[in-house]
Amino acid sequence: RAKEMGGNNYQFYTAALNEQLGERLLIEGALRQALERREFVLHYQPQVDIACGRIVGMEALVRWQHPELGMVAPNRFIPLAEETGLIVPLGAWVLRTACAQALAWQRLGQGELRVAVNVSARQMAEQDFVQSVAAALAETGLAPHCLELELTESQVMNDIEQAISVMHELKKLGVKLAIDDFGTGYSSLAHLKRFAIDVLKIDQTFVRDVTENADDAAIVRTIIALASNLKLEVISEGVETRQQLDFLRQHGCQQMQGYYFSRPVPAAEFLAVLAAHDARQAAERGAQADRM
Ligand code: C2E
Ligand code: MG
Ligand code: MG
Ligand code: MG
Repeated sequence: RAKEMGGNNYQFYTAALNEQLGERLLIEGALRQALERREFVLHYQPQVDIACGRIVGMEALVRWQHPELGMVAPNRFIPLAEETGLIVPLGAWVLRTACAQALAWQRLGQGELRVAVNVSARQMAEQDFVQSVAAALAETGLAPHCLELELTESQVMNDIEQAISVMHELKKLGVKLAIDDFGTGYSSLAHLKRFAIDVLKIDQTFVRDVTENADDAAIVRTIIALASNLKLEVISEGVETRQQLDFLRQHGCQQMQGYYFSRPVPAAEFLAVLAAHDARQAAERGAQADRM
C-alpha cells in the first residue's frame, strides 16, 4: 500500500496527523470553553439503604448541557476530557459542586446524606490530587466521611503502588473510597486486601440478568459474600426491577441504586425525589401494618 502511494506517502501521513491534531485541539477548545461558560451540570441519583428504607446518599453524575447538542452523556466527553487533560479542572469542579450541594441538602434537614463522586485515572495521577480533595472539603465545609470517591479497578491497577499510596492518603483525610463497576476489571483478591477501600459497587452488567442468568446470580452472590467477609459495604448499581431488588436483598445486599428508585435527576428535583421516596416508604409500612 505504501508503495502504491509512492511519493505521496509522507504528505499523506502529515495530513492525517494534522487532521488528528486539529480535531484534538478543537475538542480541547470546546471543553475548555464549556467549563468557562458553565455548561456542565451535575445530576444526582439516590442510593437507598433498604434495611432502613431510606435514601442515604447520592452519586453525582456529570452532563454537558451543550447549546446546540442538548444534554451530552458523560461517556461521550469524559474520555476526551481525560485525553486532553481537561478532566483535571472539570473533575475539580465536579468535586467542589457535589460537596457544596450535599452540604446544602444536609442543612435543609436531610441528615447525613453522603455524596459519591467519580474520579478518573488522570485526575488521581495528579501530584496534588489529595490536596485538591482536602481543599474541596475545606472550602465547602462538608464532613469528610460524607464524601465517597469512586475509583475503578483498572485505574487502580494502572499504577498499583502509586494508587495504594494515594488511597491511604485519602483515607487519612477521612473520606470513603469505593470501587466502581466491581467485577469488570482485573484486580486480584490479593490486591483488594491492600486497597484502603470501604465499598464495593457491583457492576450493573451483573445485576441486569441476575434473576434469569445463573452465572450472573453466582457472581453477584460471590461479590456480596466477598464484601461481607472483608467487612466492606456493598452496593448494587443498575437496579431496575422489583425482582432484582428482592434477589439482592435476599442475598444480603442492603444498598442499591438504579432506575427502580430513580433516574439521576437535576439538583432542583432531588428533594422532590427524596420526599416521594419517603411517602412511598410510609405507605408501604402502613400497608404492612394493616395486614398484621
Ligand atoms: P458509573 O459511575 O458506573 O455510573 C453509573 C451509570 O449508570 C450512570 O450513567 C447512570 O445514569 C447509569 N444508571 C443508573 N441507574 C441505572 C439503571 O437502573 N439502569 C441503567 N441501564 N443504567 C443506570 P451516566 O450518568 O451516563 O454515566 C456514565 C459513566 O460516566 C459513569 O459510570 C462514570 O464512569 C462516568 N462519569 C459520570 N460522571 C462522571 C464524573 O463526574 N467524573 C468522571 N471521571 N466520570 C464520570
Ligand atoms: Mg460511578
Ligand atoms: Mg458504576
Ligand atoms: Mg458503570
